[in-house]
Amino acid sequence: MGVDHLKNVVFKENPLARYLESKCKLCRREGEKLFLKGEKCFTDKCAIDRRNYPPGQHGQKKSRISDYGVQLREKQKIRRIYGIFEKQFRIIYKNADRQRGVTGDNLLQQLESRLDNVVYLMGFGSSRAESRQIIRHNSILVNGSRVNIPSYIVEPGDTIAVDQKSSDQLRIKASLQAADNRGYPSWIEVDIKGMKGTFKNKPDRSDLPSTINESLVVELYSK
Ligand code: SF4
Repeated sequence: MGVDHLKNVVFKENPLARYLESKCKLCRREGEKLFLKGEKCFTDKCAIDRRNYPPGQHGQKKSRISDYGVQLREKQKIRRIYGIFEKQFRIIYKNADRQRGVTGDNLLQQLESRLDNVVYLMGFGSSRAESRQIIRHNSILVNGSRVNIPSYIVEPGDTIAVDQKSSDQLRIKASLQAADNRGYPSWIEVDIKGMKGTFKNKPDRSDLPSTINESLVVELYSK
């Protein structure tokens, strides 16, 4: 990886750290699809479509939740969507807060600009977790240089490509085809045959799901 690219790395993650809880349980706890299991999320096997109530013995009981609880749940939900651990999420939040503009918008733009997220949106990995694995296995090039750090921040205009040696991996081909069938977000351009894509620009807030309420995270961390 070229030295130039290192300046963009926000922090280094522990490659051995991972969530051990069932991914579908995480969605059920948040009460919505977080798209953590690749293609299964788009089928009728999705646990949210089958049992949309929190896991556990008391999952179906209705309980009142405080303002703090609502803020906490939203923060957990966003962390889980992007697969970020608490400590890393705090660092990203602090960076967003230091930047000019609206902290919540900055936070989402930073999360969206992570290499693992961009690789996922381009369809090289079927989920953000799988994309992190593909990146760590040295299968991704940014502007022609190998980058194996999932938290690397992609800049507008950067080209992301699957390395030639990994281009015949069936899992990459399958998820690329599935993503192509679903279509890409407006800020991403993909050349499916060339197994490469361009991160055209950072998304505007209006481009991102309205089910995310980042202002609750700002309220939580501003206390
Ligand atoms: Fe969530 Fe996907 Fe499991 Fe559905 S299939 S509950 S979206 S991880």
